[in-house]
Parts: sequence; C-alpha cells; structure tokens
Amino acid sequence: MKDNFGREISYLRVSVTQRCNLNCVYCGKIECAKKDSELSPEIIEKLVRAFAKCGINKVRITGGEPLVRKDICEIIGRTREIEGIETIGITTNGVYLSEYANEMKKAGLDSVNISLDSTDGSTYRHLTGSDVLTKVLEGIDAAERAGLAPLKINAVLMKGVNSDGAGELINIARNRKIDVRFIELMPFSDDGEDSSLIVTGDEILREFSFLKPMQSEEGTAKYYSAQGFKGRIGLINPITHKFCSDCNRIRLLSDGKVKPCLGYDTVYDIMQYIDCESSLIEEIKKIIMNKPSGHSFESESAGHGLNKTGG
Ligand code: SAM
Repeated sequence: MKDNFGREISYLRVSVTQRCNLNCVYCGKIECAKKDSELSPEIIEKLVRAFAKCGINKVRITGGEPLVRKDICEIIGRTREIEGIETIGITTNGVYLSEYANEMKKAGLDSVNISLDSTDGSTYRHLTGSDVLTKVLEGIDAAERAGLAPLKINAVLMKGVNSDGAGELINIARNRKIDVRFIELMPFSDDGEDSSLIVTGDEILREFSFLKPMQSEEGTAKYYSAQGFKGRIGLINPITHKFCSDCNRIRLLSDGKVKPCLGYDTVYDIMQYIDCESSLIEEIKKIIMNKPSGHSFESESAGHGLNKTGG
C-alpha cells in the first residue's frame, strides 16, 4: 500500500532479537538483551501475515544477530508459507552461517547479506571485539555452496580504522559472484559517531575510479562494476545522498513494536491486537500511512544503535 507521500511500502525488516554475539564499534552498546522478550515464531508469523495483507511482499530478517536464535529456520519456514511474501533475505554477521546455511536454504531463505568490515584479522577483531574472521569467511563459502543468492557483503568504512582495507573488500567482488556494498557510517552509537570518520560513497568512487555505474539501482544501493568483475560494488549513502523519497520499508522490532522510520525514535505497539487480525491490519495501515517523509541523520543522531532496531 502507499503511504501519505505516495511511496509504495512493500519491504518489511523483521528484527528477531536484540542479542548479538559481536560488539561492533559503531553499533551501539549491547545491553543485556533478554531472550524472553523475543517473539515466538508463531507470533512473528501472525504479524508478518498481517503485514503481507497490507502489501508487504519482501521480508528481511535481521537483529541483533538473527542466527543466535536456535529457531531461526522455523521463523524462515513460517514466513515462507505466508501468501504474498515473495522474497526472504537475512542480514547476519556470518559467524554461525556455516552451521545454518543449508538448513536455512531448505526452510525457504532466498538471499543473505553478510556484514564484513575488514578481511584483516586484527582489524576485524578491533571492530567487532571477536577473533572470528575465519568463521565468517567459512560462512560466506557455505552460503555460496548452499545456493543462497544473491550473496552480498555489507561493509562500513571508517577513516583511519578500516578504510585502507577497502581494496581487499572490492577484490571479493572482482573474484567471486558476490556484491560488496559500502554503507556510509550513520550516527547511531550511544556516544554519537565522529563525522570525520565517515568515508563517503563519492570518496570511494574517487579512490577506485575504475568503478563504472551500472543501470541497476535496487532499493537504497547504487551499483557499479568494472572490467572482469564477477560481482558488483554497491554504494549505500544515507548521509550524502538521502533516499527517503524512495523509502519502501518499515520495521518490526524484536518486541513486536513497529518502527516506521529509522531516523526517529517513534515506535507503535501492535501486540495488543495480536488476536484480532482485522484490527492488526487496520493499525498497520495507519502506521504505514503516517510514515515520516524522511530522516535527519545529517543534523542529529537517531539515538538507537542498529543492534536494537535491526540494520
Ligand atoms: N547482526 C547482523 C549483522 O551484523 O549483519 C544484523 C544486524 S546489523 C545492526 C545490520 C547492519 O547494520 C550491518 O551491516 C552493520 O554494518 C550495519 N550498521 C550498524 N551500525 C551502523 C552504523 N552506525 N552505520 C552504518 N551501518 C551500520
């Protein structure tokens, strides 16, 4: 369905947990997120079904880290059964991907986005607080073998921290059928982000001038390629090129609250309608209708780390 600004809202990001097994420097402090406040697969199915009846056809499962949930395959399987849901993707840090890739594919998962900010072991450890780069790289291989596609790597570059590793990340797209996407650092951590750390999409294009724009623009990413590349390079520039006028997404948080815009703290509790689908649909429609026109990251922090809302 369309919101008040004529945008077709068709994409639901479902955060299934606030828990995470990593502690990324830009993602906000991890509080003791509680497992018992998470929604069961049955409740997630009920909610997503209601969203599907409001025009949602694409679901991305995220977190926290979605693969810390042992019932992740049941969540995927139940989502797969919902009429109207055409594609299901997951965003993961990849640490448990080698364990789950096959099972998730069988449950109905289409695609995987893996967050990987560096291919250098010590930089990776510094960024995430964990020495698990090898596990993540094995996870990427396992996802590829399982036939999960498209496979995308998401990287956030920070000047003087991991920006010198951009070339190595780009080489992954050169050598494999994997898209590597650079996301501009957003001001989410509880201390606020130092804007001097941001590596903009334009800076990446200046440094890697062999990247040539492709026609394809999918959602928030603009894609580039180069001679001989098997995968694409994507730039997601929420800071320097606002894409709110094309925003087609809405978020379901791990406690059942709905967040219509990442840039605002406003959330809506729809759990009180869980046993009455018609009321649930009516509430969701109202929330979609009133989705804000855009964020204001350039002037202020959104206040909540993506570990809470799902990236
Ligand atoms: N745990 C999963 C993962 O690591 O992919 C899913 C959640 S994570 C919050 C989703 C995405 O948000 C990751 O790709 C991460 O890089 C991105 N992200 C988190 N904080 C960010 C920030 N301040 N600016 C830009 N991207 C951020």
